[in-house]
Amino acid sequence: MWEPNFTSAGIDRPLDILAIAAHPDDVEQTCGGTLIRMAEAGYRTGVLDLTAGDMGTRGTPQLRIEESEQAGREMLLAWRGNMRWPDARLENTLTARMTLAGELRILRPRTVILPYWAGRHPDHYRASEIGSEACFLAGLAKLDDQTEPHRPFKILYSSLYANVTPSFVVDISSQFDRRMAALLTYKSQYGDVAEGSDLFPPQTEIRERLSAIARFYGNLIGVKYGEPFVVKEAMRVDDIVAMPVRSI
Ligand SMILES: [Zn+2]
Repeated sequence: MWEPNFTSAGIDRPLDILAIAAHPDDVEQTCGGTLIRMAEAGYRTGVLDLTAGDMGTRGTPQLRIEESEQAGREMLLAWRGNMRWPDARLENTLTARMTLAGELRILRPRTVILPYWAGRHPDHYRASEIGSEACFLAGLAKLDDQTEPHRPFKILYSSLYANVTPSFVVDISSQFDRRMAALLTYKSQYGDVAEGSDLFPPQTEIRERLSAIARFYGNLIGVKYGEPFVVKEAMRVDDIVAMPVRSI
């Protein structure tokens, strides 16, 4: 598996949080602010992109991987990798699930962030499905004899582009600018260039759009910018007096 230069030694200790995404630049749009906030809090964060975006109108896979490496530094990641699986053709095969489970047993994250399980782009919901099944498989003792079993404790689904009520929203007001800077390192995608300009909005439009979405979710919890997540389990509350979001 390809590893960027800034983690040339590979992984030496477990990650606290791993976000798995279909394409480079997905996490920068959906959960990058949360990853930055967690890194600032001292957690070891990582991103594993499943494809290098080779079907994209703009840029080349190598260029997008280089840009993702730079974006990873901007997001304060401890690690970023890319599986280089075929873009726009992700399939939930036994090989895919087993390979990803093997990666999870090496990276050993406690929390995994996956894309929401429904959406327009097949790669996004397949990445979600492959990811959640791999999390389960990674915990099987007899999966392989090279790596120790490891089942992530928690799976969060990043629901920014899904029209669903989030289970919770993370306040990313202080991380929003850094997240935007990370996204704009993908100059091949977001630079104001002519190629594909009928498909890609100009940079000012991207800023405005992402800011509006983050403001919408922030507003749900009474802060400026937010990122939404869905969990399949109930959320536990120990102190109902200290609950921070004002009722409407
Ligand atoms: Zn994507």
